[in-house]
Amino acid sequence: MPIELLPEEVIGRIAAGEAIERPASAAKELIENAIDAGASSVHVEVEAGGRRTLRVTDDGTGIHVSEIELAFKRHATSKLTSADDLRDISTLGFRGEALASIAAVSRATVVTRHRDDEMGVSLNVRGGVVEQRRLVGAPAGTVVAIENLFFNTPARLAFLKSEATEKRHIQWVVMRYAMAYPNIAFALKQDGRERFRSSGGGVLADVLANAFGLKAFRCMMALDGIEERRPGRPAIGITGYVSQPTLSRASRDRIILFVNGRAIQDSTLSHAITQAYDGLLKTGAFPFAVLLISMPPDFVDVNVHPTKAEVRFRDSQLVFVAVQRAVRETLLKSSDAAPAVDLWTSTGFGEEYISYQHPQPPWRQRRAADLFDDEGMDHIPEAAEAPMRPRTLPVLRVVGQVGASYIIAEGPAGLYLIDQNAAHERVLYHQLIDESANGGVPSQALPESQTALLAPDDAQLLCEVSELFTQLNFEIEVFGPNSFLIRRAPRILSSMLASDVLPRMLASLRGSEKTAECAAEALAAVAAVRNGQMLQEEEMQSLIAQLERCPSPFASPSGRKTLIHLSREDLADEFKRL
Ligand code: ADP
Ligand code: MG
Repeated sequence: MPIELLPEEVIGRIAAGEAIERPASAAKELIENAIDAGASSVHVEVEAGGRRTLRVTDDGTGIHVSEIELAFKRHATSKLTSADDLRDISTLGFRGEALASIAAVSRATVVTRHRDDEMGVSLNVRGGVVEQRRLVGAPAGTVVAIENLFFNTPARLAFLKSEATEKRHIQWVVMRYAMAYPNIAFALKQDGRERFRSSGGGVLADVLANAFGLKAFRCMMALDGIEERRPGRPAIGITGYVSQPTLSRASRDRIILFVNGRAIQDSTLSHAITQAYDGLLKTGAFPFAVLLISMPPDFVDVNVHPTKAEVRFRDSQLVFVAVQRAVRETLLKSSDAAPAVDLWTSTGFGEEYISYQHPQPPWRQRRAADLFDDEGMDHIPEAAEAPMRPRTLPVLRVVGQVGASYIIAEGPAGLYLIDQNAAHERVLYHQLIDESANGGVPSQALPESQTALLAPDDAQLLCEVSELFTQLNFEIEVFGPNSFLIRRAPRILSSMLASDVLPRMLASLRGSEKTAECAAEALAAVAAVRNGQMLQEEEMQSLIAQLERCPSPFASPSGRKTLIHLSREDLADEFKRL
Protein backbone atom coordinates (compact mmCIF):
# COMPACT_ATOMS: atom_id res chain seq x y z
CA MET A 1 0.00 0.00 0.00
CA PRO A 2 1.21 3.53 -0.68
CA ILE A 3 1.86 5.76 2.31
CA GLU A 4 -1.06 8.10 2.87
CA LEU A 5 -2.12 10.54 5.53
CA LEU A 6 -4.95 9.12 7.59
CA PRO A 7 -8.34 10.81 7.42
CA GLU A 8 -9.04 13.12 10.40
CA GLU A 9 -11.72 10.76 11.72
CA VAL A 10 -9.30 7.82 11.93
CA ILE A 11 -6.65 10.01 13.59
CA GLY A 12 -9.28 10.95 16.13
CA ARG A 13 -10.14 7.38 16.99
CA ILE A 14 -6.50 6.36 17.32
CA ALA A 15 -5.75 9.30 19.58
CA ALA A 16 -8.83 8.56 21.66
CA GLY A 17 -7.47 5.09 22.32
CA GLU A 18 -4.49 6.54 24.16
CA ALA A 19 -6.23 8.84 26.60
CA ILE A 20 -9.62 7.17 26.88
CA GLU A 21 -8.98 3.54 27.58
CA ARG A 22 -12.08 2.84 29.65
CA PRO A 23 -15.17 4.64 30.94
CA ALA A 24 -13.28 5.66 34.09
CA SER A 25 -10.75 7.57 31.99
CA ALA A 26 -13.57 9.52 30.35
CA ALA A 27 -15.01 10.23 33.81
CA LYS A 28 -11.59 11.40 34.95
CA GLU A 29 -11.19 13.82 32.05
CA LEU A 30 -14.65 15.31 32.50
CA ILE A 31 -14.13 15.73 36.24
CA GLU A 32 -10.77 17.41 35.60
CA ASN A 33 -12.45 19.83 33.23
CA ALA A 34 -15.06 20.66 35.87
CA ILE A 35 -12.36 21.29 38.47
CA ASP A 36 -10.34 23.42 36.04
CA ALA A 37 -13.53 25.43 35.40
CA GLY A 38 -13.64 26.36 39.10
CA ALA A 39 -16.70 24.26 39.96
CA SER A 40 -17.83 24.04 43.57
CA SER A 41 -20.03 21.06 42.88
CA VAL A 42 -19.50 18.14 40.51
CA HIS A 43 -22.15 15.48 40.00
CA VAL A 44 -21.40 12.27 38.19
CA GLU A 45 -24.14 9.95 36.99
CA VAL A 46 -23.36 6.61 35.46
CA GLU A 47 -25.37 3.86 33.90
CA ALA A 48 -24.13 0.38 33.06
CA GLY A 49 -20.61 1.09 34.28
CA GLY A 50 -20.35 4.11 31.97
CA ARG A 51 -20.99 2.21 28.78
CA ARG A 52 -24.54 3.39 28.43
CA THR A 53 -24.31 6.83 30.01
CA LEU A 54 -21.76 8.96 31.78
CA ARG A 55 -22.91 12.43 32.76
CA VAL A 56 -20.87 15.05 34.57
CA THR A 57 -22.59 18.22 35.74
CA ASP A 58 -20.68 21.18 37.14
CA ASP A 59 -21.32 24.73 38.24
CA GLY A 60 -18.05 26.09 36.90
CA THR A 61 -17.48 28.99 34.50
CA GLY A 62 -19.15 27.33 31.54
CA ILE A 63 -18.11 27.67 27.90
CA HIS A 64 -18.90 30.66 25.71
CA VAL A 65 -21.43 30.00 22.94
CA SER A 66 -18.85 31.20 20.46
CA GLU A 67 -16.27 28.65 21.63
CA ILE A 68 -18.35 25.54 21.96
CA GLU A 69 -17.35 23.89 18.66
CA LEU A 70 -13.74 24.76 19.32
CA ALA A 71 -13.81 22.98 22.67
CA PHE A 72 -14.40 19.72 20.75
CA LYS A 73 -11.52 20.27 18.33
CA ARG A 74 -8.31 18.39 18.93
CA HIS A 75 -5.54 20.52 20.50
CA ALA A 76 -8.00 23.25 21.41
CA THR A 77 -7.48 24.42 24.96
CA SER A 78 -7.90 27.54 27.05
CA LYS A 79 -5.20 26.37 29.45
CA LEU A 80 -1.97 26.75 27.50
CA THR A 81 -0.73 29.20 24.94
CA SER A 82 2.94 28.47 24.44
CA ALA A 83 5.40 25.65 24.88
CA ASP A 84 6.85 27.60 27.80
CA ASP A 85 3.57 27.18 29.66
CA LEU A 86 4.12 23.43 29.59
CA ARG A 87 6.81 23.88 32.20
CA ASP A 88 4.48 25.56 34.62
CA ILE A 89 1.13 23.81 34.48
CA SER A 90 -1.29 24.54 37.27
CA THR A 91 -4.43 23.14 35.63
CA LEU A 92 -5.32 19.46 35.40
CA GLY A 93 -5.89 19.60 31.65
CA PHE A 94 -3.55 21.14 29.13
CA ARG A 95 -3.52 19.06 25.96
CA GLY A 96 -6.89 20.09 24.60
CA GLU A 97 -7.58 16.52 23.67
CA ALA A 98 -10.09 15.04 26.05
CA LEU A 99 -13.35 16.40 24.66
CA ALA A 100 -12.27 15.66 21.09
CA SER A 101 -11.18 12.15 22.03
CA ILE A 102 -14.31 11.34 23.97
CA ALA A 103 -16.59 12.73 21.26
CA ALA A 104 -14.76 10.69 18.62
CA VAL A 105 -15.80 7.44 20.26
CA SER A 106 -19.26 8.20 21.61
CA ARG A 107 -22.41 10.18 21.23
CA ALA A 108 -21.74 13.29 23.30
CA THR A 109 -24.05 16.09 24.30
CA VAL A 110 -22.88 19.21 26.03
CA VAL A 111 -25.14 21.83 27.51
CA THR A 112 -23.31 24.83 28.85
CA ARG A 113 -23.75 28.47 29.74
CA HIS A 114 -20.85 30.76 30.48
CA ARG A 115 -21.32 32.86 33.60
CA ASP A 116 -21.13 36.05 31.56
CA ASP A 117 -23.51 34.91 28.81
CA GLU A 118 -27.28 35.21 28.83
CA MET A 119 -27.98 32.20 26.69
CA GLY A 120 -26.50 28.76 26.89
CA VAL A 121 -25.80 26.37 24.06
CA SER A 122 -26.42 22.70 23.46
CA LEU A 123 -24.28 20.69 21.07
CA ASN A 124 -24.65 17.07 19.94
CA VAL A 125 -21.64 15.28 18.54
CA ARG A 126 -21.65 11.71 17.25
CA GLY A 127 -18.41 9.91 16.45
CA GLY A 128 -16.70 13.30 16.26
CA VAL A 129 -19.24 14.84 13.88
CA VAL A 130 -21.43 17.73 15.07
CA GLU A 131 -25.06 16.74 14.56
CA GLN A 132 -26.98 19.54 16.18
CA ARG A 133 -26.36 22.90 17.81
CA ARG A 134 -28.92 25.18 19.36
CA LEU A 135 -29.15 28.02 21.84
CA VAL A 136 -30.84 27.03 25.08
CA GLY A 137 -31.61 28.47 28.48
CA ALA A 138 -29.40 26.75 31.07
CA PRO A 139 -27.93 27.38 34.50
CA ALA A 140 -24.34 28.64 34.53
CA GLY A 141 -22.01 25.69 34.26
CA THR A 142 -21.63 22.67 32.08
CA VAL A 143 -23.23 19.27 31.62
CA VAL A 144 -21.39 16.77 29.45
CA ALA A 145 -23.32 13.58 28.75
CA ILE A 146 -21.73 10.69 26.95
CA GLU A 147 -23.73 7.81 25.59
CA ASN A 148 -22.68 4.60 23.94
CA LEU A 149 -19.01 5.02 24.68
CA PHE A 150 -16.80 3.07 22.24
CA PHE A 151 -19.77 2.31 19.97
CA ASN A 152 -17.53 2.76 16.92
CA THR A 153 -14.43 1.07 18.34
CA PRO A 154 -15.61 -2.54 18.79
CA ALA A 155 -12.16 -3.78 19.77
CA ARG A 156 -12.04 -1.39 22.71
CA LEU A 157 -15.55 -2.37 23.69
CA ALA A 158 -14.66 -6.04 23.62
CA PHE A 159 -11.71 -5.48 25.94
CA LEU A 160 -13.66 -3.67 28.62
CA LYS A 161 -13.77 -5.44 31.95
CA SER A 162 -17.03 -6.42 33.60
CA GLU A 163 -19.56 -3.75 34.35
CA ALA A 164 -18.86 -4.18 38.06
CA THR A 165 -15.15 -3.54 37.52
CA GLU A 166 -15.81 -0.42 35.49
CA LYS A 167 -18.18 0.83 38.18
CA ARG A 168 -15.54 0.33 40.81
CA HIS A 169 -12.96 2.22 38.76
CA ILE A 170 -15.31 5.13 38.26
CA GLN A 171 -16.12 5.21 41.94
CA TRP A 172 -12.42 5.45 42.80
CA VAL A 173 -11.89 8.22 40.26
CA VAL A 174 -14.62 10.25 41.94
CA MET A 175 -13.46 9.44 45.46
CA ARG A 176 -9.85 10.33 44.63
CA TYR A 177 -10.80 13.73 43.27
CA ALA A 178 -13.00 14.30 46.30
CA MET A 179 -9.93 13.66 48.46
CA ALA A 180 -7.75 16.03 46.47
CA TYR A 181 -10.45 18.72 46.46
CA PRO A 182 -12.36 18.60 49.75
CA ASN A 183 -13.71 22.08 48.94
CA ILE A 184 -15.69 20.71 46.03
CA ALA A 185 -18.92 18.80 46.69
CA PHE A 186 -18.85 15.57 44.71
CA ALA A 187 -21.73 13.17 44.23
CA LEU A 188 -21.75 9.88 42.38
CA LYS A 189 -24.84 7.99 41.29
CA GLN A 190 -24.53 4.62 39.60
CA ASP A 191 -27.67 3.19 37.99
CA GLY A 192 -29.82 5.58 39.98
CA ARG A 193 -28.27 4.77 43.37
CA GLU A 194 -26.08 7.16 45.25
CA ARG A 195 -22.68 5.59 45.74
CA PHE A 196 -20.64 8.41 47.17
CA ARG A 197 -21.00 11.97 48.30
CA SER A 198 -18.68 14.58 49.76
CA SER A 199 -19.88 17.74 51.42
CA GLY A 200 -17.49 20.24 49.89
CA GLY A 201 -16.86 21.50 53.42
CA GLY A 202 -13.12 21.54 52.89
CA VAL A 203 -12.23 18.86 55.44
CA LEU A 204 -10.27 15.92 54.06
CA ALA A 205 -11.20 13.80 57.10
CA ASP A 206 -14.86 14.05 56.08
CA VAL A 207 -14.11 12.72 52.65
CA LEU A 208 -11.94 9.88 53.90
CA ALA A 209 -14.56 8.74 56.42
CA ASN A 210 -17.03 8.44 53.54
CA ALA A 211 -14.63 6.85 51.10
CA PHE A 212 -12.97 4.28 53.38
CA GLY A 213 -15.77 3.78 55.86
CA LEU A 214 -15.70 5.17 59.34
CA LYS A 215 -14.11 2.18 60.94
CA ALA A 216 -11.05 2.19 58.71
CA PHE A 217 -10.79 5.94 58.86
CA ARG A 218 -10.61 5.86 62.63
CA CYS A 219 -7.40 3.90 62.32
CA MET A 220 -5.77 6.68 60.32
CA MET A 221 -3.56 9.49 61.50
CA ALA A 222 -3.10 12.94 60.04
CA LEU A 223 0.30 13.93 58.73
CA ASP A 224 0.64 17.38 60.07
CA GLY A 225 1.59 19.51 57.14
CA ILE A 226 5.23 18.53 56.92
CA GLU A 227 7.40 20.77 54.76
CA GLU A 228 10.70 19.70 53.41
CA ARG A 229 12.96 22.70 52.87
CA ARG A 230 16.53 22.43 51.82
CA PRO A 231 18.74 25.34 50.85
CA GLY A 232 18.62 25.89 47.14
CA ARG A 233 15.89 23.27 46.67
CA PRO A 234 12.18 23.81 46.19
CA ALA A 235 9.93 23.35 49.21
CA ILE A 236 7.88 20.18 49.22
CA GLY A 237 4.70 20.16 51.27
CA ILE A 238 3.09 16.93 52.38
CA THR A 239 -0.28 16.57 54.07
CA GLY A 240 -2.75 13.73 54.29
CA TYR A 241 -3.43 10.63 56.34
CA VAL A 242 -1.74 7.30 56.88
CA SER A 243 -2.97 4.22 58.69
CA GLN A 244 -1.84 3.05 62.07
CA PRO A 245 -0.19 -0.35 61.80
CA THR A 246 -3.43 -1.87 63.11
CA LEU A 247 -5.04 -1.21 59.75
CA SER A 248 -3.72 -2.74 56.58
CA ARG A 249 -4.72 -4.36 53.36
CA ALA A 250 -3.51 -7.25 51.28
CA SER A 251 -2.76 -4.95 48.34
CA ARG A 252 -1.36 -1.49 47.69
CA ASP A 253 -4.66 -0.18 46.38
CA ARG A 254 -5.24 2.13 49.33
CA ILE A 255 -2.01 4.03 48.78
CA ILE A 256 -3.27 7.13 47.05
CA LEU A 257 -0.95 9.87 45.91
CA PHE A 258 -1.57 13.36 44.64
CA VAL A 259 0.91 15.82 43.30
CA ASN A 260 -0.35 19.37 43.06
CA GLY A 261 -3.96 18.16 43.08
CA ARG A 262 -3.42 15.49 40.46
CA ALA A 263 -3.87 11.81 41.30
CA ILE A 264 -0.73 9.99 40.23
CA GLN A 265 0.72 6.53 40.23
CA ASP A 266 4.31 6.23 41.31
CA SER A 267 5.69 2.91 42.42
CA THR A 268 8.81 4.54 43.89
CA LEU A 269 6.81 6.81 46.19
CA SER A 270 4.48 4.00 47.09
CA HIS A 271 7.59 2.04 48.03
CA ALA A 272 8.79 4.97 50.15
CA ILE A 273 5.57 4.69 52.13
CA THR A 274 5.57 0.92 52.59
CA GLN A 275 9.22 1.10 53.63
CA ALA A 276 8.31 3.51 56.39
CA TYR A 277 6.16 0.70 57.81
CA ASP A 278 9.05 -1.72 57.77
CA GLY A 279 8.79 -4.00 60.79
CA LEU A 280 5.33 -2.71 61.65
CA LEU A 281 3.32 -4.68 59.12
CA LYS A 282 3.50 -8.33 58.19
CA THR A 283 4.85 -9.22 54.78
CA GLY A 284 2.10 -8.96 52.23
CA ALA A 285 0.24 -6.33 54.27
CA PHE A 286 0.14 -2.76 53.01
CA PRO A 287 -0.89 0.45 54.72
CA PHE A 288 -3.60 2.93 53.81
CA ALA A 289 -2.15 6.29 52.82
CA VAL A 290 -3.57 9.40 51.24
CA LEU A 291 -0.78 11.85 50.56
CA LEU A 292 -1.21 15.29 49.08
CA ILE A 293 2.17 16.42 47.88
CA SER A 294 2.71 19.95 46.73
CA MET A 295 5.68 21.50 45.02
CA PRO A 296 6.36 24.31 42.55
CA PRO A 297 4.74 23.31 39.23
CA ASP A 298 8.01 23.64 37.35
CA PHE A 299 9.50 20.98 39.60
CA VAL A 300 7.34 18.25 38.13
CA ASP A 301 6.73 17.26 34.52
CA VAL A 302 3.13 16.16 34.03
CA ASN A 303 3.45 15.79 30.30
CA VAL A 304 4.91 12.28 30.22
CA HIS A 305 1.92 9.93 30.10
CA PRO A 306 -1.16 9.81 27.84
CA THR A 307 -3.57 9.72 30.76
CA LYS A 308 -1.40 12.06 32.85
CA ALA A 309 -1.33 9.33 35.52
CA GLU A 310 2.43 9.37 35.86
CA VAL A 311 4.68 12.33 36.41
CA ARG A 312 8.41 12.92 36.45
CA PHE A 313 10.05 14.82 39.28
CA ARG A 314 13.04 16.99 38.68
CA ASP A 315 14.59 15.58 41.86
CA SER A 316 12.87 12.32 42.64
CA GLN A 317 15.26 11.48 45.46
CA LEU A 318 14.23 14.63 47.32
CA VAL A 319 10.55 13.72 47.00
CA PHE A 320 11.20 10.13 48.04
CA VAL A 321 13.01 11.23 51.21
CA ALA A 322 10.37 13.83 52.06
CA VAL A 323 7.54 11.32 51.74
CA GLN A 324 9.30 8.67 53.74
CA ARG A 325 10.24 11.09 56.49
CA ALA A 326 6.72 12.48 56.72
CA VAL A 327 5.20 9.03 57.09
CA ARG A 328 7.82 7.76 59.49
CA GLU A 329 7.58 10.79 61.77
CA THR A 330 3.83 10.43 61.96
CA LEU A 331 4.12 6.75 62.81
CA LEU A 332 6.71 7.44 65.49
CA LYS A 333 4.64 10.16 67.06
CA SER A 334 1.59 7.95 67.15
CA SER A 335 3.41 5.09 68.84
CA ASP A 336 4.52 7.45 71.64
CA ALA A 337 1.16 9.07 72.01
CA ALA A 338 -1.61 6.62 71.38
CA PRO A 339 -1.92 3.14 72.74
CA ALA A 340 -2.79 0.78 69.91
CA VAL A 341 -5.84 -0.51 71.73
CA ASP A 342 -9.46 0.50 71.81
CA LEU A 343 -9.68 2.33 68.55
CA TRP A 344 -13.36 2.83 69.00
CA THR A 345 -13.33 4.85 72.14
CA SER A 346 -10.37 7.04 71.25
CA THR A 347 -11.84 9.86 69.24
CA GLY A 348 -8.64 10.43 67.28
CA PHE A 349 -9.97 13.20 65.14
CA GLY A 350 -12.60 15.23 66.99
CA GLU A 351 -16.09 14.06 66.20
CA GLU A 352 -16.82 17.41 64.64
CA TYR A 353 -14.51 16.51 61.80
CA ILE A 354 -16.35 13.39 60.95
CA SER A 355 -19.49 13.59 58.93
CA TYR A 356 -21.43 10.41 58.62
CA GLN A 357 -22.98 9.62 55.32
CA HIS A 358 -25.77 8.05 57.34
CA PRO A 359 -26.21 8.89 61.00
CA GLN A 360 -24.67 6.27 63.20
CA PRO A 361 -27.46 3.90 64.14
CA PRO A 362 -27.91 2.93 67.80
CA TRP A 363 -26.95 -0.72 67.38
CA ARG A 364 -23.56 0.42 66.20
CA GLN A 365 -22.92 2.56 69.22
CA ARG A 366 -23.98 -0.27 71.44
CA ARG A 367 -21.75 -2.81 69.78
CA ALA A 368 -18.81 -0.57 69.14
CA ALA A 369 -17.07 -1.50 72.36
CA ASP A 370 -17.40 -5.18 71.53
CA LEU A 371 -15.71 -4.87 68.21
CA PHE A 372 -12.20 -5.60 69.32
CA ASP A 373 -13.32 -8.08 71.86
CA ASP A 374 -12.29 -11.12 69.90
CA GLU A 375 -8.95 -11.55 71.68
CA GLY A 376 -8.24 -15.15 72.49
CA MET A 377 -11.40 -16.37 70.89
CA ASP A 378 -9.79 -18.07 68.00
CA HIS A 379 -10.59 -21.64 68.40
CA ILE A 380 -8.69 -24.66 67.24
CA PRO A 381 -11.03 -27.60 66.89
CA GLU A 382 -10.35 -30.85 68.66
CA ALA A 383 -8.14 -33.31 66.85
CA ALA A 384 -11.05 -35.73 66.73
CA GLU A 385 -12.89 -33.34 64.41
CA ALA A 386 -10.17 -33.66 61.78
CA PRO A 387 -11.16 -35.94 58.94
CA MET A 388 -8.91 -38.97 58.67
CA ARG A 389 -6.85 -38.21 55.61
CA PRO A 390 -3.63 -39.97 54.70
CA ARG A 391 -0.57 -38.77 56.57
CA THR A 392 1.58 -36.18 54.85
CA LEU A 393 3.94 -35.54 57.76
CA PRO A 394 5.39 -37.99 60.27
CA VAL A 395 4.00 -38.12 63.79
CA LEU A 396 5.30 -35.06 65.61
CA ARG A 397 5.63 -34.41 69.31
CA VAL A 398 5.12 -30.88 70.55
CA VAL A 399 8.08 -29.58 72.53
CA GLY A 400 6.94 -26.04 73.16
CA GLN A 401 6.09 -22.61 71.74
CA VAL A 402 8.51 -19.76 70.99
CA GLY A 403 7.50 -16.12 70.92
CA ALA A 404 3.84 -17.10 71.16
CA SER A 405 4.07 -17.64 67.40
CA TYR A 406 6.05 -20.76 66.54
CA ILE A 407 5.52 -24.29 67.70
CA ILE A 408 8.61 -26.42 68.21
CA ALA A 409 8.01 -30.07 67.43
CA GLU A 410 10.17 -33.12 67.16
CA GLY A 411 9.81 -36.17 64.91
CA PRO A 412 11.82 -39.14 63.74
CA ALA A 413 13.37 -37.01 61.00
CA GLY A 414 14.50 -34.14 63.22
CA LEU A 415 13.23 -30.79 64.43
CA TYR A 416 10.28 -28.77 63.12
CA LEU A 417 9.51 -25.10 63.67
CA ILE A 418 5.91 -24.42 62.77
CA ASP A 419 4.34 -21.02 62.13
CA GLN A 420 1.09 -21.40 64.05
CA ASN A 421 -0.82 -18.88 61.97
CA ALA A 422 0.23 -20.21 58.56
CA ALA A 423 -0.30 -23.80 59.70
CA HIS A 424 -3.74 -23.13 61.07
CA GLU A 425 -4.71 -21.35 57.86
CA ARG A 426 -3.70 -24.45 55.93
CA VAL A 427 -5.65 -26.72 58.28
CA LEU A 428 -8.79 -24.59 58.24
CA TYR A 429 -8.68 -24.23 54.47
CA HIS A 430 -8.82 -28.00 53.96
CA GLN A 431 -11.41 -28.37 56.65
CA LEU A 432 -13.63 -25.84 54.83
CA ILE A 433 -13.11 -27.47 51.45
CA ASP A 434 -13.99 -30.88 52.92
CA GLU A 435 -17.03 -29.57 54.71
CA SER A 436 -18.28 -27.76 51.61
CA ALA A 437 -18.07 -31.01 49.67
CA ASN A 438 -19.73 -33.03 52.44
CA GLY A 439 -22.93 -31.40 53.51
CA GLY A 440 -21.77 -27.85 53.98
CA VAL A 441 -19.75 -25.68 56.34
CA PRO A 442 -21.25 -25.85 59.85
CA SER A 443 -22.66 -22.47 60.73
CA GLN A 444 -24.49 -20.91 63.61
CA ALA A 445 -27.28 -18.38 63.89
CA LEU A 446 -25.88 -15.30 65.62
CA PRO A 447 -27.54 -14.72 68.99
CA GLU A 448 -28.15 -11.15 67.89
CA SER A 449 -27.89 -10.34 64.19
CA GLN A 450 -24.97 -8.05 63.50
CA THR A 451 -24.82 -5.18 61.11
CA ALA A 452 -21.75 -4.36 59.07
CA LEU A 453 -21.30 -0.89 57.60
CA LEU A 454 -18.85 -1.29 54.75
CA ALA A 455 -16.82 1.11 52.65
CA PRO A 456 -18.75 1.65 49.41
CA ASP A 457 -16.38 -0.41 47.28
CA ASP A 458 -16.40 -3.25 49.79
CA ALA A 459 -20.20 -3.13 49.76
CA GLN A 460 -20.22 -3.37 46.01
CA LEU A 461 -17.80 -6.26 46.02
CA LEU A 462 -19.90 -8.07 48.62
CA CYS A 463 -22.92 -7.80 46.33
CA GLU A 464 -20.92 -9.22 43.47
CA VAL A 465 -19.58 -12.18 45.41
CA SER A 466 -22.55 -12.76 47.73
CA GLU A 467 -22.91 -16.28 46.34
CA LEU A 468 -19.48 -17.20 47.72
CA PHE A 469 -20.54 -16.11 51.19
CA THR A 470 -23.78 -18.06 50.89
CA GLN A 471 -21.80 -21.17 49.95
CA LEU A 472 -19.84 -20.78 53.18
CA ASN A 473 -23.18 -20.65 55.01
CA PHE A 474 -23.13 -16.98 55.87
CA GLU A 475 -26.60 -15.50 55.89
CA ILE A 476 -26.31 -11.85 54.92
CA GLU A 477 -29.02 -9.40 53.93
CA VAL A 478 -28.79 -5.93 52.46
CA PHE A 479 -29.78 -3.57 55.25
CA GLY A 480 -29.28 -0.15 53.71
CA PRO A 481 -26.79 1.66 51.51
CA ASN A 482 -23.48 -0.06 52.22
CA SER A 483 -24.80 -1.80 55.30
CA PHE A 484 -25.62 -5.46 55.73
CA LEU A 485 -27.31 -7.61 58.31
CA ILE A 486 -25.52 -10.83 59.23
CA ARG A 487 -27.78 -13.52 60.64
CA ARG A 488 -25.62 -16.65 60.41
CA ALA A 489 -21.90 -17.19 60.20
CA PRO A 490 -19.62 -20.24 59.90
CA ARG A 491 -18.92 -21.86 63.23
CA ILE A 492 -15.14 -21.65 62.88
CA LEU A 493 -15.45 -17.93 63.43
CA SER A 494 -16.44 -18.85 66.95
CA SER A 495 -17.33 -15.62 68.70
CA MET A 496 -15.37 -13.30 66.43
CA LEU A 497 -17.61 -10.49 65.34
CA ALA A 498 -18.87 -11.41 61.87
CA SER A 499 -19.22 -7.73 60.98
CA ASP A 500 -15.51 -7.38 61.64
CA VAL A 501 -14.73 -10.42 59.55
CA LEU A 502 -16.46 -9.21 56.36
CA PRO A 503 -14.10 -6.35 55.46
CA ARG A 504 -11.09 -8.58 56.05
CA MET A 505 -12.47 -11.34 53.84
CA LEU A 506 -13.42 -8.83 51.16
CA ALA A 507 -9.93 -7.35 51.22
CA SER A 508 -8.40 -10.71 50.44
CA LEU A 509 -11.09 -11.61 47.88
CA ARG A 510 -10.64 -8.37 46.02
CA GLY A 511 -7.51 -9.25 44.10
CA SER A 512 -8.38 -12.94 43.84
CA GLU A 513 -10.14 -14.98 41.17
CA LYS A 514 -13.23 -15.03 43.39
CA THR A 515 -13.75 -18.78 43.34
CA ALA A 516 -15.11 -20.93 46.17
CA GLU A 517 -11.49 -21.84 46.97
CA CYS A 518 -10.54 -18.18 47.24
CA ALA A 519 -13.45 -17.62 49.61
CA ALA A 520 -12.40 -20.59 51.75
CA GLU A 521 -8.87 -19.18 51.78
CA ALA A 522 -10.14 -15.78 52.88
CA LEU A 523 -12.25 -17.27 55.64
CA ALA A 524 -9.41 -19.51 56.81
CA ALA A 525 -7.06 -16.52 56.97
CA VAL A 526 -9.47 -14.57 59.12
CA ALA A 527 -10.37 -17.46 61.42
CA ALA A 528 -6.83 -18.79 61.91
CA VAL A 529 -5.09 -18.38 65.22
CA ARG A 530 -2.82 -15.38 65.13
CA ASN A 531 0.85 -15.07 65.87
CA GLY A 532 1.47 -13.60 69.26
CA GLN A 533 -1.13 -15.79 70.87
CA MET A 534 -0.16 -18.23 73.60
CA LEU A 535 -1.48 -21.73 72.94
CA GLN A 536 -2.19 -24.50 75.41
CA GLU A 537 -0.30 -27.75 74.95
CA GLU A 538 -3.52 -29.51 73.81
CA GLU A 539 -4.21 -26.81 71.24
CA MET A 540 -0.75 -27.21 69.77
CA GLN A 541 -1.09 -31.01 69.73
CA SER A 542 -4.42 -30.67 67.99
CA LEU A 543 -3.09 -28.25 65.39
CA ILE A 544 -0.08 -30.44 64.63
CA ALA A 545 -2.22 -33.58 64.42
CA GLN A 546 -4.37 -31.90 61.80
CA LEU A 547 -1.42 -30.51 59.87
CA GLU A 548 0.05 -34.02 59.69
CA ARG A 549 -2.87 -35.04 57.51
CA CYS A 550 -3.18 -31.98 55.30
CA PRO A 551 -2.71 -32.58 51.56
CA SER A 552 -0.10 -29.82 51.27
CA PRO A 553 1.24 -29.16 54.73
CA PHE A 554 4.28 -27.10 53.79
CA ALA A 555 2.64 -23.81 52.83
CA SER A 556 -0.44 -21.82 53.75
CA PRO A 557 -3.09 -21.43 51.02
CA SER A 558 -1.65 -17.98 50.29
CA GLY A 559 1.80 -19.49 49.85
CA ARG A 560 3.49 -18.69 53.15
CA LYS A 561 5.80 -21.29 54.62
CA THR A 562 4.17 -23.26 57.43
CA LEU A 563 7.22 -25.05 58.74
CA ILE A 564 10.98 -25.17 58.80
CA HIS A 565 12.49 -28.62 59.03
CA LEU A 566 15.95 -29.22 60.44
CA SER A 567 16.87 -32.83 59.75
CA ARG A 568 19.25 -34.82 61.95
CA GLU A 569 21.85 -34.28 59.25
CA ASP A 570 21.28 -30.52 59.28
CA LEU A 571 21.71 -30.46 63.03
CA ALA A 572 24.80 -32.65 62.94
CA ASP A 573 26.22 -30.46 60.22
CA GLU A 574 25.58 -27.32 62.24
CA PHE A 575 27.33 -28.83 65.24
CA LYS A 576 30.11 -30.22 63.08
CA ARG A 577 29.42 -33.79 64.11
CA LEU A 578 29.48 -35.30 60.63
P1 ADP B 1 -8.07 20.59 28.14
O1 ADP B 1 -8.78 20.32 29.41
O2 ADP B 1 -6.77 19.86 28.05
O3 ADP B 1 -7.93 22.01 27.83
P2 ADP B 1 -10.40 19.42 26.91
O4 ADP B 1 -10.60 18.79 25.59
O5 ADP B 1 -10.65 18.60 28.09
O6 ADP B 1 -8.92 19.97 26.94
O7 ADP B 1 -11.27 20.72 26.97
C1 ADP B 1 -11.13 21.71 25.97
C2 ADP B 1 -11.53 23.06 26.50
O8 ADP B 1 -12.92 23.10 26.71
C3 ADP B 1 -10.93 23.42 27.84
O9 ADP B 1 -9.65 24.02 27.69
C4 ADP B 1 -11.96 24.38 28.42
O10 ADP B 1 -11.72 25.68 27.98
C5 ADP B 1 -13.25 23.90 27.82
N1 ADP B 1 -14.02 23.05 28.76
C6 ADP B 1 -14.11 21.71 28.75
N2 ADP B 1 -14.90 21.27 29.74
C7 ADP B 1 -15.30 22.36 30.42
C8 ADP B 1 -16.15 22.57 31.56
N3 ADP B 1 -16.70 21.55 32.23
N4 ADP B 1 -16.35 23.86 31.95
C9 ADP B 1 -15.79 24.89 31.29
N5 ADP B 1 -14.98 24.74 30.23
C10 ADP B 1 -14.74 23.51 29.78
MG1 MG C 1 -9.53 18.49 29.94
